[in-house]
This record gives sequence, C-alpha cells and structure tokens, in this order.
Amino acid sequence: MNKFKTTIGLEIHVELNTKRKMFCDCINPASLSSKISDRKPNTFCCPTCMGFPGTLPRTNELAIEFARLTGIALNCEIQKESKFDRKHYFYPDLPKGYQISQYDMPFCKNGFLEIDGEKTCSEQSRRIRINRVHLEEDAGKLIHHQDSGESFVDLNRAGTPLIEIVTEPDLESPEQAKEFVKKLRDIIRAIGVSDADMEKGHLRCDANIDVKLINSKSQETNSKQISNSNFQKMSPIVEIKNLNSFRFIEKALEFEVERLSLDQENWPEEKSKITRGFDSKTGETYEQRRKEEAADYRYFPEPDLPVYTITDDEISKLKVNLKDLPEDLENQMSDMGISKEQVSMLSSDKKLREIFNTVLKEVNDPRLVLTYLMLIRGIVKKGNSTAAVNIKELVVLLKEIKSGNIKHEIGKRLLSKMAEGERVDGLLEGFKNQEEYDINKVIDKVISSNTKAVSDFRKGQQNAVGFLVGSVMKETKGAANPQEVKKLIIEKL
Ligand code: ZN
Ligand code: MN
Repeated sequence: MNKFKTTIGLEIHVELNTKRKMFCDCINPASLSSKISDRKPNTFCCPTCMGFPGTLPRTNELAIEFARLTGIALNCEIQKESKFDRKHYFYPDLPKGYQISQYDMPFCKNGFLEIDGEKTCSEQSRRIRINRVHLEEDAGKLIHHQDSGESFVDLNRAGTPLIEIVTEPDLESPEQAKEFVKKLRDIIRAIGVSDADMEKGHLRCDANIDVKLINSKSQETNSKQISNSNFQKMSPIVEIKNLNSFRFIEKALEFEVERLSLDQENWPEEKSKITRGFDSKTGETYEQRRKEEAADYRYFPEPDLPVYTITDDEISKLKVNLKDLPEDLENQMSDMGISKEQVSMLSSDKKLREIFNTVLKEVNDPRLVLTYLMLIRGIVKKGNSTAAVNIKELVVLLKEIKSGNIKHEIGKRLLSKMAEGERVDGLLEGFKNQEEYDINKVIDKVISSNTKAVSDFRKGQQNAVGFLVGSVMKETKGAANPQEVKKLIIEKL
C-alpha cells in the first residue's frame, strides 16, 4: 500500500478589538458585541476608510501594541524596525485598490506554539513554528442579493485592524490543525486583544495542504527524517480559503487529504499551487482559482506611514504587562485541584476570569469559587435569570459556606434565590430562623413514623438513635448538624 505524508500550514486572520479602526478614527465594529452584519451598511466609515483621494492614514498605536503582544505570547522575536506596505489587488470591497499590509518587515517573526500530544492522539507535544505575525487592515464586504442579482458594497469592516499569523508547514494532520487554532484562540482571548469569536468572523483561517508519496525504503523511518529527497511525488499545494469554524477546518482538510491521495495520476511534475473553497453544506472543497504569487500583488512600501521602532526597554515593559497565558494559569492552578477543562474555560473567557480573580481575593478557595461561578452560569443559561448574581453578594454567601455555617446543599438553594433577585442578607437570616423551626418539625415527624426504632431506643438500644439521626439527615438533605440532631432526639425521647 502507498504511504502518504500530509503537510499543513495555516494563515490565520484575527480582528483586533481596539475601539478605533486601523488608520482612521471610525469606531471599529469588531469591538462591539453585536455582529457586524446586524449593523446598517456603510454607517461606520469615513473618507479615509472609504479610500477617498487625498485622505491620509493615521496609525492606531494600540493596534500595533496588540500585534506585538500577540507576538510575545507566541514566542516571536519582536522586530526593532517595522514598516507597512501596499498590497495591490482589484476587488470591489477594496476601495483604495490596495490593502495596507506588511511585506518584508513585519512586527514579529520566528515564534512557535506547542500543541498538546494527548489532544491529537500522539505521545509527545508538537512544536509548530510561527513564521510571522503582521498587522494589516481588513477589506469591506460584498452583499449579494439572490433575487435581484444585484451586489452591494458595505464598507463598515473596511479598515478594521487585523493581525495575520502565518505558521510554517509543521502540522501533519487535520486534527493537529484544529487543535492549533483552538489553542491560538485561547491565547488571543487570554491576552485580550480580540474576542476571537469565529462565529462573528473575528478569527478566520486559510489552510495550505499538500500530500507526498513516500518511498517504500523510508517508510520505516521517523516522519521527521523525511526530507525532500526521499519522497517520489508531491501533490499540488492547495490553499483552502476562509474556514470559519473548528469543525470546518478539520472537515475541509480531511476531505482534501482524501481527494489529493486519490488524484495521484494528475499530480503535476512541477511544484504548483491552487486555491479551493469549502462548501460546508456538502463537506467538499471546490476549485476557485490558480494562486497569485507575491509578485502579482506589486508590494511597495506605504509612503504615507513611517518606520516603526521599538527599544529593548519597551519590549520588556510589554512582556511585564502581558496577561497570564492559558499555560501559566494551568500551572498556577494544578495544585488547587481545578481540572484542565475548567482552566481552559477560565482562560478562554476573559469576563469569567476577571470575576474569578475578584472573588478569589475575598474567598481563598478556588474550587469553591469556581463551583459557584459554574452554577451561576448554568442558571443564566437556562434563562431563569437575566441578571447574573451580584459579586459582593456572592462573596458573602461563599464566606458563610467556607466557614461551615452553611452546607453546600443550602448554598445552592440560596444561590438560585439570589439569581431571582433576592438579597443575600435576607436569605441568610431567613435560613437561620427556618432551620430551627424545621429541625424540630422534622424530628417530630421522624419520631412518629419510626415507632420500632423509638421503642428499641427506649428499651436501651443506644444504636437505634443513630438510625433516627440518619433519617433526619436524609429529610434535611444533609443540612442539619448531626450532633445537634442527636441531642434534640434524646431530649425528646
Ligand atoms: Zn474611517
Ligand atoms: Mn492577510
């Protein structure tokens, strides 16, 4: 049987969440919570991002900082000097006829990201090299009306700051590619430069893939040792454009591995590159066009923008300001008994993490805090409550639980009442009164319905009281204090 080697590289575009666009003062729609397609077309633009003649770009410094922060998080070398270039192509959603991007002097180069072995069914973690992280502006969007056959241009997205992250072809399976993008998304969210919501188009992925036929002689050797000389034949390099979910990344690449392997007779003699799209309805890719080479874009330096420099001191400061990465969090929490999944949830949800840290300062019990945050999330998800629980109130409740005054069962009940808008003070007061009242009632009930145990106890069988205490605990779902219950029962008998 023939043996194939799959090689995958990724280009990932991430919309930054800065308040303003890349080269003008327009509001950046990617910083708003609603989808850009929900906005009225052409309401977030000005002459600059609409490409009017005579306008000049003005740099958003924060976007540059975000690009460099991303580079640091991805272990890149931050470049001391960087510049922007014009990338020319003709398309109706690109009003200037060129995109301001970066060609040979990006902000960050030569990084890497490790992906977990266990997530991709291999023993070792894999280091995926990152070629570069550069900054550019996004284009607008075309809206095609099916009925009338007309097309419209919406420039709300034009000029939105984008970082492009380019990997080396170090990925060896569709599954690894998916895991890589997931990990990248978690990091982007953790450092706070983008919401990285694929559904909202904040994070888009293009994948390059080829398949090589491997010489039978080298089949036994480690895949890392396969160099260019020991494979016989290579498929064209296929670029699949605009994959916008983790599932589609994996599905499209799986389809392409299969298609290329079966299409061996048509593999070209010379290296060649083609572009294909992915149809999520059929799960198949389809040919789009032959790929432009860099020369087709006629890159040249953007004359309206300066060279951007950074000193070692400034780079160190950025490193200090970098928020905790998912891996740091994982290390910090491994002793606290928090599961890996919970850590990854915390690191990918900025808001949840902030609340967690705030509450943790008051109630030093990470597991307890996380358990209750998860409960609140469950309540909100079910739609039982629109407003989340007030943090100060939550702290009061958790302190009572931690000090042992309230059992977990009761805590949960009180929490759901708090989610309905009740105040914690009132609930705690009510709980204390109710507990005294209830306990006597429950004990009376247990005594009257367990005549055998009662008479056994009266005959002098001490262990019969244990059964009665157990019944009371069962009735109160563990909320009562067993010692106290025992005392009360003996008094009553
Ligand atoms: Zn503008
Ligand atoms: Mn790009």
